[in-house]
Amino acid sequence: MIGNKTLTMIKPTAVEKGFAGPILAKINEAGFKISALKLMKLSKEQAEKFYEVHKDRPFYNDLVGFMTSGAIVAAILEKENAVEAYRQLIGATNPDQAEKGTVRDLFGTNIQANAVHGSDSNENAEIEADFFFSKLERF
Ligand code: ATP
Ligand code: MG
Repeated sequence: MIGNKTLTMIKPTAVEKGFAGPILAKINEAGFKISALKLMKLSKEQAEKFYEVHKDRPFYNDLVGFMTSGAIVAAILEKENAVEAYRQLIGATNPDQAEKGTVRDLFGTNIQANAVHGSDSNENAEIEADFFFSKLERF
């Protein structure tokens, strides 16, 4: 493994708009190693589990509905200080407030359809990586 890991999802609107390739290119250019990758559709149960920490937030049901509305791309990314480095690359949660040139600025539609997910801690990165990928799917 190279440094630490983070887990990203390219969200349904971004996949639908054909941004998966350009987003993965930005990830490569920023020096992350992609050590696992898949295109899939989350079930309602899977999306509810993934976002369980947000279950009391007002946007939870909408978010689950959105994340199950189409295909997503999930990936494990490795780099020194991966969680923080990736959150810098993607920018603020709301694309309107995301720094120029960040993934959410370039490819986000709105605060919900904000192009990508990124883990918020090393501990959650491990949990989220295990959620999506078996040992056989990691390189
Ligand atoms: P992510 O966890 O997807 O990387 P984040 O850590 O920047 O995003 P969180 O606070 O964890 O933001 O929110 C998780 C996701 O919930 C956001 O990425 C966004 O899709 C959605 N979300 C957050 N806040 C709102 C909101 N006020 N209205 C609608 N959706 C929201
Ligand atoms: Mg988050």
